[in-house]
Amino acid sequence: MFDLDSLNPQQREAVSHTEGPLLLLAGAGSGKTRVITCRIVSLLQQSAVPARQILAVTFTNKAAREMRQRVEEMVGRKACKGMVIATFHSLCVRILKADIERLGYKKNFSIYSAADQQQLVRRLLRDEIVDASSKDADQVLWQISAAKNQLIGPGDFISSSRDPVSCMTALIYPRYQKELKAYNAVDFDDLLVLAVQLLEKHPDLLEHYQQFYRYQMVDEYQDTNPVQYRLLKLLAGGHGNLCVVGDDDQSIYGFRGADVATILNFERDFPGTRLIKLEQNYRSTGNILAAANALIKNNRQRKEKALWTAAGAGPPIDYLLCDDDQHEACQVIERIHIERGRRELNYSDFAILYRTNSQSRSFEEQLRYEDIPYVLIGGQQFFDRKEVKDVIAYLKVLLNPLDEVNLLRILNYPKRNIGAGSADKLIRYSAETEQSLWSVLKQSEQVPELQPRTHEAINGFVELLEKYRKRFQPALRMLETLREMLQELQLAEEIYRQENDPQKARRRIENQEEILNAMAAYLERDPEPDLAGFLDKVSLFDDDGPKQNDKEKKLAQNAVTLMSLHSSKGLEFPVVFLVGMEEGFLPHKKSIYETFDIDEERRLCYVGITRAERQLVLLGAGRRRKYGKLEQRDPSRFLVEIPPELLVRCDPEKSIESTPEQQEKSASNFFSGIGQLLGD
Ligand code: ATP
Ligand code: MG
Repeated sequence: MFDLDSLNPQQREAVSHTEGPLLLLAGAGSGKTRVITCRIVSLLQQSAVPARQILAVTFTNKAAREMRQRVEEMVGRKACKGMVIATFHSLCVRILKADIERLGYKKNFSIYSAADQQQLVRRLLRDEIVDASSKDADQVLWQISAAKNQLIGPGDFISSSRDPVSCMTALIYPRYQKELKAYNAVDFDDLLVLAVQLLEKHPDLLEHYQQFYRYQMVDEYQDTNPVQYRLLKLLAGGHGNLCVVGDDDQSIYGFRGADVATILNFERDFPGTRLIKLEQNYRSTGNILAAANALIKNNRQRKEKALWTAAGAGPPIDYLLCDDDQHEACQVIERIHIERGRRELNYSDFAILYRTNSQSRSFEEQLRYEDIPYVLIGGQQFFDRKEVKDVIAYLKVLLNPLDEVNLLRILNYPKRNIGAGSADKLIRYSAETEQSLWSVLKQSEQVPELQPRTHEAINGFVELLEKYRKRFQPALRMLETLREMLQELQLAEEIYRQENDPQKARRRIENQEEILNAMAAYLERDPEPDLAGFLDKVSLFDDDGPKQNDKEKKLAQNAVTLMSLHSSKGLEFPVVFLVGMEEGFLPHKKSIYETFDIDEERRLCYVGITRAERQLVLLGAGRRRKYGKLEQRDPSRFLVEIPPELLVRCDPEKSIESTPEQQEKSASNFFSGIGQLLGD
């Protein structure tokens, strides 16, 4: 049950302020997210606001799910019906699903994954440059994405182009956008851009949404980029009931166009804003908080905060300088064993945080070797695997036959006598006659120079798709239909043909079967399921990853978490290992040599430190393997910024024997200065 007394006076004030703009600017762990949750409950219970008038935007699907769960626990599931707690992207999908036709798209539009975008851009690049690499495509896509996040359209991009990649982007961007529209497809960034366009061009819709979502809340507001900001400004127009919470010290998406000025300018942009600051941290012990405060003080542009905690000092922060990457992984595992031996801790109380996803490998290896359950957040996602993408491509085409990228992906998969030469002829013919590839396939006898057996294969392919399209339309038997389609396509046989290693082949087939489980879970959750709804979930990564059987689920509930610092935003763990505390990782080499933005790296480090509740262990290696060779590494400059009396430099070999109490006592003896910390 919700109890206002469980909040401090400032939090209570924020919860009770329901009309007009509200900015909650506060440091890590001060209860910002909790305020949003309680505010929703208060709106429902105290102010009797209908659930459907509440809109809460969070940064990740996981955060959205957890927030909904918390609110449901407090008020019951029924009371939450119609309330929207979503990410920016899923909110925009909702808006577009209802009215995208007004922008000239069809309702069954496809949402392109990164792989779909790659395919398309590579093809466009190949038309212009003979040997464009996937790196070229990535760079162009990166620039297109950056432009979209700044609301720079394909027509406006040209003027800002100077370097070779920009020139390439200026050439490709308009064509890319045109092709997407012809395929009735949108990319991830378009979801936001198009939603903004829709609301800007259609005042009736805008008014509808402004009235509809009367109470709006945004978590992690410091990472809002210009297109997201525009959307919020539109939606909150009129009533101005927008409550945003954030921490300028945790702005870590500058590299994706998020602008910390957005939060700092909120009061200017929303006149009459009530500003509330929270200063008590409820998450971490004193030493952890002191280290975080000392570190972030070194940043230049920031709002000064005085975060404090009523919790005790707790154990000091440990720093372990390891020999190499393997040694670092072993040390983490050893510490997990020790901590579990000392206190009653579950594996799920531990998190290993790193700057780049590639750092996870050595930890995964070691955890597997020791049989310790773990969950890896990020990295290669289930839906990124080739065999999974193949099946999803079928589903995408069944929903939207204009989706040429996916149509080409499945045209000859599994092999059906429509080789690359025939595909080229079909594409050329569709371009010459200005018809979609799908229309050409349906009347392939028009296409010259195709072999009779190719015609036969194309007809068979079209018939198959038509058959399953009809069968997927009533969503009643979606699961059975997918199962039958997989059988008829004989994809398992195709995998066995292509994959030499039978074990790998079996795993890939199992992954395809997992899609059935993902669909089953979707059918259970969604009250009005259909194929489009399932694909939206997949495209927005809004599922719980590959579905597991009961045993695996139980294991996952008690598993060590591995994730990047970026993904760790908003989360908390009793014990945190912040690994790779080295120049080149944290701060990342890109920020040292290219962008010169050390402040954003310091904020990342601050985010990492402030995830820890009771124990923080920093680790780094003196050497690392790179392309098979050992490379010398220097300790991170951020270690120097943490007051030495808070850090205990542990001898990796001896750390096993000392208890937290011993370490706490000896903390100040260990150092007389940072020279000693980084000395030998
Ligand atoms: P971050 O900046 O990392 O997103 P946050 O400001 O959103 O942090 P929360 O995650 O809301 O902070 O809260 C941090 C922890 O403190 C949570 O475990 C939360 O339950 C607890 N907490 C927040 N407010 C209070 C309170 N008034 N009394 C007790 N515990 C609280
Ligand atoms: Mg939070």
